[in-house]
Formats: sequence, C-alpha cells, structure tokens
Amino acid sequence: MASNLPFEYTIGLEIHVQLKTASKMFCRCSNAGENESPNTTVCPVCMGHPGTLPVMNAAAVRMGAKASLALNCTINEESKFDRKNYFYPDLPKGYQISQYDQPLGIHGYVDIAIPGDVPRSTARIRIRRLHLEEDAAKLLHAPGSDVSLVDFNRAGTPLAEIVTEPDFKTPLEAKIFLQELRLLARYLDISSADMEKGHLRCDANISIQTTEDGAEVSSAISEIKNLNSFRAVERALEYERNRLREEWTAGGEVRTRNYKITVGWDEQNQKTIVQRWKEEAHDYRYFPEPDLPPLRFSHEAIDEIRAELPELPQQKRQRLISTYGISLDDARILVDDRALASFFENACSELDAWLCALSGCDDAFKEKSYKLLSAWTVNKLQGLLASTGQYIDQSKLTPENMAQLIAYIAEDKINSTTAQEILEHSLKTAIDPAQMIKEQGLEQVSDSGLIGQTAQKIVDANPDAVANYKAGKENAIMFLVGQVMKELKGKGQPELIRDELKKILS
Ligand SMILES: [Zn+2]
Repeated sequence: MASNLPFEYTIGLEIHVQLKTASKMFCRCSNAGENESPNTTVCPVCMGHPGTLPVMNAAAVRMGAKASLALNCTINEESKFDRKNYFYPDLPKGYQISQYDQPLGIHGYVDIAIPGDVPRSTARIRIRRLHLEEDAAKLLHAPGSDVSLVDFNRAGTPLAEIVTEPDFKTPLEAKIFLQELRLLARYLDISSADMEKGHLRCDANISIQTTEDGAEVSSAISEIKNLNSFRAVERALEYERNRLREEWTAGGEVRTRNYKITVGWDEQNQKTIVQRWKEEAHDYRYFPEPDLPPLRFSHEAIDEIRAELPELPQQKRQRLISTYGISLDDARILVDDRALASFFENACSELDAWLCALSGCDDAFKEKSYKLLSAWTVNKLQGLLASTGQYIDQSKLTPENMAQLIAYIAEDKINSTTAQEILEHSLKTAIDPAQMIKEQGLEQVSDSGLIGQTAQKIVDANPDAVANYKAGKENAIMFLVGQVMKELKGKGQPELIRDELKKILS
C-alpha cells in the first residue's frame, strides 16, 4: 500500500536580508533608491564602469557581524569577497561581489517554539552560514509589452544571505523561523525586514523521505524561488510537499532524478509551477575579488560587537516569563511589539510601588497582579489600540495610570466593565484613574447588604424571569444579574450579585 507510506519532510531556507545602511555596499550612492526615480541613485562604481574600484561599506560589515552573533554563528577571523560571474541584464559588471568559501559567519543556530507542538514543541534550526554580498538591479516587465526595463537603483545594495541547514520538518516551522528572523533583524536595527517590500526574501528547498523495504529513501529536491510573504512560504511548501508525495506514490521520476528542479509560486492559483526542469550546471567561475582586502576580525573586535547587541527576542521572552510569571503566548505578543513590551515593563514597576503601598508587597498578590496587567495589556489594551489605529507611545495612557487601573481591578474595587471604560477614556485623555473613580463614584459595590436589598427588589419586579429560572432555565439568572447591575449603575460585583440572587431564589 504505497499510498499509506509514512513520509517525513526535509526543508531548508536561503534568505536574503536587505541591510539598511545609508549608502550602498561598495560606493557612496544612497541606499534608499527604491523611493527615488529609476536610475538616479547610481554612479560609475555600481554601474560597473571600467576603471572604478569598490570600497567596502564598514557599516554593512558591522551589521553582518551583529546578525552573525545574534544567530549564534562563529565569526571567521578572516573572510573574503569573491566574484560570482554570470551574464544577466540586471548585473552591470558581469559579476556579483559575494562571499564564496570564506563567509563572514558560520555554524550558528536559532531556537524556535512551535505552537500546537506538531510534530515537536521546539526546534533548533542550525545556520550553515551568513555572508555579505551586493544586490543586482531590478528588471521591470511592462504588462502587455515585450519590453523589459531595468532600474539600477538597487544595484549594489548590501545584503546578508543566511543559509540554514535542512532542519525544518514542516512548512509551519519554516514560517515561524522566518518571522523570528524578521524580529531579530528589527531588534538589531539592521533591516526593516519587510517581506512585501523585498527587504526579506526567501527561497525554500524541500524533499521527502520514507522507508521502503527497510531502507530509508529520499526524493529529489525542489527549490521554490522568491517567496515574498510569510503566508506564501507556508502555502508553497505545503503545496510542493503534497505534490512530491503524490508523485512519489505514483512512481514518478522524483524517485530517481538526481538533480533539483526550480519551481515558482503562483500566488493567484495557489500552486507551484516548474520553472526549470533541466539540470543546469552553474559555473560561476568564482575567484577572489582582487580589488577588496580580506575582512579581519580580532577577538577584541568581536567582543566589542557582541557587547553592543541589544536584548534579543528569545532572551526577552524568557526574562518576561521568569520575572513576571506571564504565559509564553503573552510574552510572544509583547516581544513582537517593542513599544508595548516596554510599556508593560514600565507599568509593572509602577504597579510594584502601588501594590507595596496597598497590600504590603505580598508576593502572591503581586504575581496575580502582573498576570492581570499582562492580560489587560495583551487583550484589552492591544485590541483598543488596533481598533483606533493608535500606537501605545502616541496614546495618552501612561504606564503609571495603567498600573493604577490594574491595582484597582486586582483589589476588586472596580469591576471589569468599569475598568474597560476607564481604559478607553484614558487612551484619549490624560486622566488619573483614581481621580475618575472617585469623582464619578465608580467604585464597585461589594456591600452584600445593599446588593441583597437590590436583588430582592429585582426579583419582586420580574416574576416571569423568576418563574423561568425556577422552571430550569439557568440563563434567566443572567437577565436578573443584568437588572441588578443596571440598578447599581454598573458598579456591582457580578459574583456577589449572582450569589445573592441564588440565595433568594433557592
Ligand atoms: Zn554607486
């Protein structure tokens, strides 16, 4: 039964990260050419005129070194640039300056967490290498015309190419890794890493493995080119995975072919299309770039760059979890938005001060309050910001006021409806929650005498709902709770109201 064979999948990625330096990799042209008219940010160097010489951009090298260290790579004490020769209209020099056999960084890794734990909960993705190179120009194909145009603004833009080992077992793992890489690039401030703008580009390799007659066998590799969104990476890999499996099961040539094919992703039809069948022996005739000296890094220089690294996403998640006892999901959301994470941490330290004043620094109460703060930040606050299109640092809400609000919720002094109203208000106007609660008398009614009286009044006034409840309609009590809450102007403590009602109705 060939169709029931268990298959495994092997996926590897090659990623280009566009570095956000001020100038290009080997000349002084602006690196912001994508925002300028075509062919205006060019010079004889990046146009490949005879007699010009490249000059290394030190900022790009530093960014590449930072990325290498953040990816846990070893920085080679000596690395060099090479010429990769090929002929194409987007390559004015007839070769690309890249790094061949001595890349900047080697042997790194990134740990990722996989939601849903399928087929594993965490994975260590090894990084084979990180090297620096220059980008080619951009070809534009006018629709409905057989003419192609070329814009040299992009020629010479610095890129870091990152190659992973084939360590991904599912398309989802590949997507999560790429999202982590984007976050890493943003934390390091080396790239906007925006896939839609082509600042983060990805090619993916996939093959399938199974066991036949007791022997492990593997298919030929498919290489999927130029994936330009996270969704496309996942979908294209899923499609190609299924296609390879079907072809294998049907006895196709994927079983015997010994070279890889190139496929493209057709976004509109959500399928891969084979672009190159034939084996192409690429002979780039690499040789060392004679016009650039090798890159040398001393231990001291590497230590100095390492010391400059900010706290990275993975470390930050772990610290938030261990310091504040919040969930991994909350930590993930906070770390994805640096401004929100620092707002949360500032609010935590304000909250500390409040809680010590209110409850004598009780640890259990503190932990409960941190969790409450994290839940309110991640769910309510983030939702409100998203719905109003605001960023936290543009709103009127201060960490101090957020902490105050959470302290009131933690102490059961206001209910969540009131808290939500205060939160909405304080995004628009700088108000002090304590003052608003006092002035508008919003403090929660938790006086069981008053709640009991009000509950009795509502029971007397609503015989139908009472009859329904007694007939077994549990939901009828929610109506009664709502009526009591209305009578108490939304300030009653819901659990207490329900308890009092049940007491009366039992
Ligand atoms: Zn130039």
